[in-house]
Amino acid sequence: MNITRREFTWLIGAGVASQAIPTALGRPEERKVGYCIVGLGRIASHFMPAIVASRNARITGLVSGHRDKAERIAAQYRVPKNAIYDYQHYDEIARNPDIEAMYIALPNGMHAEYTIRAARAGKHVLCEKPMATTVNDSQAMIDACRKANKKLMIAYRCHYEPTNLRAVQLIREGSLGKIQAIESAFGFNIGPGEWRLDKKLAGGGPLMDVGIYSLNACRYLTGEEPAMLSATWSVIDKDGRFKDVEENISWTMKFPSGVVACCNTTYGAPMQGYYRVHGSKGVLQVDEAFSYQGLHLTANLEGKSADSQLTLDEPNTERDPSHFVREADHFAGCIRENKEPKSAGEEGLKDMKLMMEIYDSCKKVA
Ligand code: NAD
Repeated sequence: MNITRREFTWLIGAGVASQAIPTALGRPEERKVGYCIVGLGRIASHFMPAIVASRNARITGLVSGHRDKAERIAAQYRVPKNAIYDYQHYDEIARNPDIEAMYIALPNGMHAEYTIRAARAGKHVLCEKPMATTVNDSQAMIDACRKANKKLMIAYRCHYEPTNLRAVQLIREGSLGKIQAIESAFGFNIGPGEWRLDKKLAGGGPLMDVGIYSLNACRYLTGEEPAMLSATWSVIDKDGRFKDVEENISWTMKFPSGVVACCNTTYGAPMQGYYRVHGSKGVLQVDEAFSYQGLHLTANLEGKSADSQLTLDEPNTERDPSHFVREADHFAGCIRENKEPKSAGEEGLKDMKLMMEIYDSCKKVA
């Protein structure tokens, strides 16, 4: 079965891409939502070009502890020098009307503080995952944004990514029959000296960083919340990297329908991100499911003879907006149209509560 571009129109119907369709006409700069980028690290370097490519958004401010780097990036994205802030002068964003939304791309342990201060400064917030490092901080972020009447979205980019959305669609329309089981994994071999290995900045190890993708995927694939979970963890490499956080976690979840899910994450091996969904009428697998590009869906569906094998690669990003662009546009659209983001703060809070349950379960069997 060949998947045509037309079949992606359901994505648009799903409300995800309603703000994400590129237009030759563009939009007057002053109507575009002004994003201020907080933390100019790796993920920010992926998100900034997406803002430029977006229909609804532009970059109007930067926050960095490195003035030289910030000035270089400001010149690249035409951000005025007086819209560059350091962390000491962060609250001055309140006086800049060109900044409407903050994109928080800092280490996890800093998300809550900079989100809450942004809300108090009257700004909307798009915050990277995981939304924080504790349930209390996550709730405080939601409360602060609500009190300030500002929107809070967690940057779960897979919620805006067409191959993942196609997988959800196939499951919802019943192509796989009754879903029985899911397997998922995501991990990488971490180098020493990363803030990701410091519990205060990271909150935890690979679960908080990349395991969260598998956890979140099991929730969006089933459309259910886990009723039961159990987990175990380990440290194999005694080379000093894992004094503060776990190296491996493996966990299982049971959903109210009876679907069982089995997930792994690691900081000790290059573990390709994927999920496999087993249904009574077929099996679906997405490889590179959580990658920035190269996603690939395969489904073997019984009872459809000629159509039994279905493969789908991510859309061509030269013609279709990337999921980073869709994410940037989605939040900007929510701000302009006063709509609740698809991946609002409450979505991040659900994962945070579950990750804490996973850690609690590990402690019981440690
Ligand atoms: P990074 O280390 O590349 O960037 C972090 C930025 O924070 C740097 O610019 C650094 O200078 C700044 N910073 C400010 N105070 C700091 C401090 N005390 N210690 C360390 N850095 C400090 O990290 P990253 O990979 O860009 O991750 C940032 C956030 O984005 C994390 O929450 C991470 O989970 C998330 N992330 C999301 C995705 C995604 O696909 N959505 C991918 C990677 C990272």
